[in-house]
Amino acid sequence: MTFQAKPFGSSPAPLMFVAKYENDGWDNGTIEPFTDLVLSPFAMCFHYGQTVFEGLKAYRSEDDQILVFRQQENFLRMNKSLERMAMPTLPQKLWEEGILSLISNLRDEVPPHGEGSLYIRPFALATQPKLGVELSDEYLFLVTACQVGAYYDKNLKVKVEKEFTRAAPGGAGSAKCGGNYGSAFYPFKKAKAEGFDQILWTDSKSHEFFEESGTMNFGFFIEDTFITPPASDTILDGITRKSIIELVKDKGYKVEVRPFSVTELKEAFTKGLKIEAFGLGTAAVIAPFESISIDGVKYACYCAPDAKMFNLKKELKGIQEGKVFDKYGWNTIVEKFVEA
Ligand SMILES: *Cc1c(COP(=O)(O)O)cnc(C)c1O
Repeated sequence: MTFQAKPFGSSPAPLMFVAKYENDGWDNGTIEPFTDLVLSPFAMCFHYGQTVFEGLKAYRSEDDQILVFRQQENFLRMNKSLERMAMPTLPQKLWEEGILSLISNLRDEVPPHGEGSLYIRPFALATQPKLGVELSDEYLFLVTACQVGAYYDKNLKVKVEKEFTRAAPGGAGSAKCGGNYGSAFYPFKKAKAEGFDQILWTDSKSHEFFEESGTMNFGFFIEDTFITPPASDTILDGITRKSIIELVKDKGYKVEVRPFSVTELKEAFTKGLKIEAFGLGTAAVIAPFESISIDGVKYACYCAPDAKMFNLKKELKGIQEGKVFDKYGWNTIVEKFVEA
């Protein structure tokens, strides 16, 4: 029988990790059956949006090892996000206990080699019941998981967004907090109604410089040069983007991490240059764009099977699945029996 994953996030793995923050400290956390949370309707997360999350994947290698991709990076970023949201940061040990021992316990849930992954969703929320607009004294850190199937590439039609803004300088755009997504749904919905699959966010001030793409980072090739805007307080420091920059450098392509304008892209299209454009994120790894619409004019991107982005995706997935030698040391091997 072949492996068949349920639609993303519809079927949680049977276990979760739960740790509590009270009296100025985290407890050690425990692994428990996945179940509903009981929270007061006054729990502060419901009212003031103090929530932070992460997303990472565990893969099964051909020789049945469980590999987690760059989890230390997720740990560092989670703590940066927590700090930005004025929430207590996590000790490394608690993170590792939550992630690695949960995955170890969910070993059998990791899909067969080459047929998907176990998506890990750690998150934290303010739980103290009080409506006063002040900091919560109580928090939860949870780690949950679900299976994801092999991702099918659909080439996306995207639109350069010039009305709405995802993040502004000084804001929380570089934190992985729930509110960043909540405020993006309305612009997504509008773009969908106009026939687009995804938005290309531009800077809040001039709407002239590219920032991110939907809920992903953004990169492209103009001929043989890879360009991606620098991570900043409006561009989240994505781990997929970071990894692709390394791979592209190692392949000998020119890499430019710099602000890139809509005008410059338009000129490149007008000159007839070969342009590959794509989103970068844990879920899709690389999401190819078929077209980019700028002020109502649609420009076609290169997405034939020999496009460089497909090769890069294959290589990165190869590392994640243990098929390509992990010379960067990105994978953590999850031990079979971690002491609980
Ligand atoms: C999570 C996220 C990304 C992608 O980060 P990865 O670590 O590659 O998954 C990009 N932008 C935003 C806003 C995000 O929340």
